[in-house]
Amino acid sequence: MKILIVEDEVALAESIGQYLSGEGYVCELAFDYTSASDKFNSYQYDCAIIDINLPDGNGIDLIRELKEYHTTSGIIIISARDSLNDRIAGLNIGADDYLIKPFNLSELNARLKSVVRRIFFSGSNEIIFNEIRIDTSAIQVFVNDKLINLTKKEYDMLLFFISNKNRVLTKESIGENVWGDYADTLNSLDFIYTHIWNLRKKLIDNGAKDYLQNVYGVGYKFNTL
Ligand code: CA
Repeated sequence: MKILIVEDEVALAESIGQYLSGEGYVCELAFDYTSASDKFNSYQYDCAIIDINLPDGNGIDLIRELKEYHTTSGIIIISARDSLNDRIAGLNIGADDYLIKPFNLSELNARLKSVVRRIFFSGSNEIIFNEIRIDTSAIQVFVNDKLINLTKKEYDMLLFFISNKNRVLTKESIGENVWGDYADTLNSLDFIYTHIWNLRKKLIDNGAKDYLQNVYGVGYKFNTL
């Protein structure tokens, strides 16, 4: 689950990033409107946390841009301005929640969890697909109710695959979602195939069907058909 944090108070942005990374999210930071807009144009994010007052623009315009051109799903506004108008404007154009500064990082985390649950997992902490069950609050995966031991990257990949069933995911998109935006600066992403191979083997060895299918020369898909 990859998050973009747009916040010009660098220390705050970094502490949010650190906290949410500890909660298992892949976090990227943008400190102004322009770099946030550039990032949205270059990469995909599952959720964005957006400050309204940015030095070179307004977070509301960024949300408008996001809703119009990009597929980032969840949006949480953070703002020092507690005026009703900002809040209504943000929610009206499609933000999912709103938090007034100063806030507790644990509260932001709870709101983010709730947005993610609502948008990606139909309101539940559990994703169940046939014999596979993912407990997203405990970050655990079960096959036929038996806990299987996945690395964090394998877990993130499974979540990404299962949220994109039957879609071919390129190694570039897997790299960026699971390792972060810097993945596109690496010379080779072939190491991702090793991680997929390990994930696939663990699932099969524990009694799951073989859902992870190599689409030659393109990537992999979680094939349920
Ligand atoms: Ca600000």
